[in-house]
Amino acid sequence: MERRDSDAIVLFGATGDLCYRKIYPALYNLVRRRLVTVPIIGVARAGWTVQQFARRVQDSLEAFVPTRDEEAMQRLIGLLRYVDGDYKERSTFDALRKALGSAARPLHYLAIPPSVFPVVIDHLGATMCAGGARVVIEKPFGRDLASARSLNQTLLKRFPESNIFRIDHYLGKEAVQNLLYFRFANSFLEPVWNRNFVASVQITMAEKMGVNGRGRFYEEAGAIRDVIQNHLLQIVAFLALEPPVNSSGESLRDEKVKVLKAIRPVRPENLVRGQFRGYRQEEGVAPDSKVETFAAMRLDINSWRWAGVPFYLRAGKNLPVTATEVVVDLRPPPAHVFGDLGPDQPNYLRFRVGPDVAIALGAHAKKPGPTMQGRQVELFVAQQQGDEMDAYERLISEALIGDTTHFARQDEVEAAWAIVDPVLGLNTPPYEYTPGTWGPREADSLLVGPCGWHNPGADAHSWTRACAPLEMSKFAP
Ligand code: NDP
Repeated sequence: MERRDSDAIVLFGATGDLCYRKIYPALYNLVRRRLVTVPIIGVARAGWTVQQFARRVQDSLEAFVPTRDEEAMQRLIGLLRYVDGDYKERSTFDALRKALGSAARPLHYLAIPPSVFPVVIDHLGATMCAGGARVVIEKPFGRDLASARSLNQTLLKRFPESNIFRIDHYLGKEAVQNLLYFRFANSFLEPVWNRNFVASVQITMAEKMGVNGRGRFYEEAGAIRDVIQNHLLQIVAFLALEPPVNSSGESLRDEKVKVLKAIRPVRPENLVRGQFRGYRQEEGVAPDSKVETFAAMRLDINSWRWAGVPFYLRAGKNLPVTATEVVVDLRPPPAHVFGDLGPDQPNYLRFRVGPDVAIALGAHAKKPGPTMQGRQVELFVAQQQGDEMDAYERLISEALIGDTTHFARQDEVEAAWAIVDPVLGLNTPPYEYTPGTWGPREADSLLVGPCGWHNPGADAHSWTRACAPLEMSKFAP
């Protein structure tokens, strides 16, 4: 199929936080790599000139790009255009159409509050800005199943599915893509990657930071909406999906939808919600807020491969570290030939998804010496500091060429919302936890087995877990 690259980038939300922290640095890097050479039009109601817009972009680069190439920066500045106006006014979009000139395939990036998605989409359609265009929609995509469906309907009236890019920056992460690659590029994994060998799967996304002045935003979200419905369910899908029939983006998305649909909707008894002490005193937070800053849940996948294997998900703010890890525990050997190994020393696979990247395999080997005593060893299959290319940079470059592989499809976001929908409206008070701890103790009761939660560490080597390993030694590449 002929590749039809976007011929302009339109940034809605050009004065906002996301553009400042993520999108301008990503665009700078794309310009530096000569992957972006088209006009970049900022749209905002700040009453700016294009020079003021350029100043904002420069400020962002000074803040977030430590070493800058002056020549690339000047090329980026040369691509900037600016349109002023309120998104609620049609005249803003008439002016945008004029600024687009002969551009026939713009990429509209909607870095704006969800409440203005529909009005922007409708105006784009009504002013001939949508035909041939692509649209990137920031998360959150809806706030429950019904609103996600409604937003999909609004979008699909103006854009074909192939031109809609629902962003979940986790899909642009090197480590998440590596998870999929590791699963299907290796033959040794497939025989054990099922209910016969896997005892359980845990995914923890821990954030050391609290809500950091964004209490008002967080009151509308909570941990389930903010990260579980999107980031963590994407990881579950990558871990659990069947092999795609080929390497096309659609085949991958087909398999993701299949597995998401096989996950049973969460029941309240399989969920523990927590709130860190002090959250209610944050600016913009209700004094009696029941919004969760922590959630732990058990998921069950009703499929031939995974029936009976619990998937435990946990995410929270004000936890001891910022790190995301997956641990896949294997079942113990059928007989314990050596008495020193019990069910609390499982073999496992560990994927560190952020901030750094690692894949490690937990195994047992004999401890040198006269007795048949073992020790646990961790073999690092891969390890690197972070992403060579930032997730936003990767995803924007893919959207510009029309590659939807790492974006969520309509049926996929709806299937993900359907899993958490029954517990979104819970009005029960969350359990309080002390900032800097691993959330409320009640979350421990969700887990079956002697090992408890796997707690990621500040670096890839320093995790902890209730079942103390035998003497641990680590072999890094
Ligand atoms: P901000 O509130 O910082 O920015 C929103 C932008 O939209 C502002 O530039 C605001 O302009 C503009 N805007 C809103 N309404 C109008 C209107 N009627 N007419 C013209 N401009 C308008 O939000 P963020 O940048 O933080 O977030 C943007 C989107 O990205 C949201 O959907 C958010 O959920 C998502 N997101 C944000 C992340 C982040 O880290 N910030 C992370 C992941 C997703 P004005 O200043 O004039 O009001």
